[in-house]
Amino acid sequence: MNRETEPNTISVFGATGSIGRQTLDVADNIGARIDVMTAGARDDVFETACRKYKPRIAAMADCDAAARLRVALADTDIKVLGGEDGVIAAASETTAADAVIAISGMAASAPMIAAAGRCRRICMANKEAIVAAGGHLLGAIKRGGAELIPVDSEHSAIFQSLHSGRRDDVDKLILTASGGPFFGKKRGELSAITPEMALAHPTWLMGPKITVDCAMMMNKGFEVIEAMHLFSMPADKIEVVVHRESIVHSMVEFRDGAVIAQLGSPDMRTAIQYALTYPSRRLGLAKRLDWRTISKLTFYEPDTESFPLLPLAYESARRGGTYAAVMSAADEIAVHEFLRGRIGFCDVADVVAGVTEKYGRSGEASFDEIIDADREARVRAREMSARIGGAD
Ligand code: NDP
Ligand code: MG
Repeated sequence: MNRETEPNTISVFGATGSIGRQTLDVADNIGARIDVMTAGARDDVFETACRKYKPRIAAMADCDAAARLRVALADTDIKVLGGEDGVIAAASETTAADAVIAISGMAASAPMIAAAGRCRRICMANKEAIVAAGGHLLGAIKRGGAELIPVDSEHSAIFQSLHSGRRDDVDKLILTASGGPFFGKKRGELSAITPEMALAHPTWLMGPKITVDCAMMMNKGFEVIEAMHLFSMPADKIEVVVHRESIVHSMVEFRDGAVIAQLGSPDMRTAIQYALTYPSRRLGLAKRLDWRTISKLTFYEPDTESFPLLPLAYESARRGGTYAAVMSAADEIAVHEFLRGRIGFCDVADVVAGVTEKYGRSGEASFDEIIDADREARVRAREMSARIGGAD
């Protein structure tokens, strides 16, 4: 093991995002110091965070933004790196004990692998890279010598619940889904949904892309694949149940029929903090549940006709190869096009399903083949979105 890390020090990859900002709140709460901080392109937001947290290294994927940041932070000792290589270099230089991977999309994979060679623990929020190339990335993290702790709330709940029994005795994993803002609506009613409507999640406050994924249940599909990789379970042993209140964060059913769940108010800071402090627990930031006011917890079967991306994810998981990577890449593009108002809500599912069916490939796929498939899926999804939207 390479580990010469500083205790109670965190590196935050994707520090300006929803998870990144909440990680900084948690760092304040547990009195941790920030070693490396990275962002994509929003240098104004990032500068404020850099001034507050004074990291040793700040890196931005966007070179122009990094150049602006370097000028803005000239009066500080912060070393500023630019470009995707700069983000990876920052990960390779970190001395933090823990890394929180909160970069969205496939861009998280290279910094994640670099950080795994340096840090004691990888707290994994990113899901797209795990969905696309889970086997390869988890292997690389293990070879790097770091321990992986999930941050996604469902996977954190499963991770916590698994502690009550032996792995051999696990019968199935049960992922809960809020059902999103359009629960109960039929496919015909979904076509008029605008980005504003899709961005209004009933229980969780998240970044825009994942919020739209939740509204389509694509996010839950991703989480099935994420769970499959993180917990080495086949997709048919992972069940999804809609739970409107988002209080039961997920469950594990053991062989004897006992079901162990983790509950709490919907606040990602609990899962982030747990990943950082595991196996200890510290005073949390989330509002406590008041059991006297919770009169019911409801559970429903998911509506796979109105939300076809959930069954598509199961199918992609079963087929293996590049299917999940193609699905995830097509989704990233289609959601972006929807948020820009270029295609409709239901078109997203059509683009994702169309591209996945046509360009996914089963069988063994190398990491490079996955990256190529991801790239091609993006091009195809852009083309298909343009055809549907009638754009240039
Ligand atoms: P956001 O979009 O809010 O934040 C993404 C972060 O990644 C920002 O810091 C952004 O920088 C940075 N970034 C974007 N593109 C790049 C790039 N090419 N290279 C380097 N950095 C980049 O996302 P969320 O915080 O919502 O989600 C982060 C990850 O965690 C996702 O994978 C998501 O699926 C997962 N997740 C999120 C949850 C949530 O509650 N939000 C829950 C569970 C999982 P900039 O601001 O400069 O663009
Ligand atoms: Mg989740």
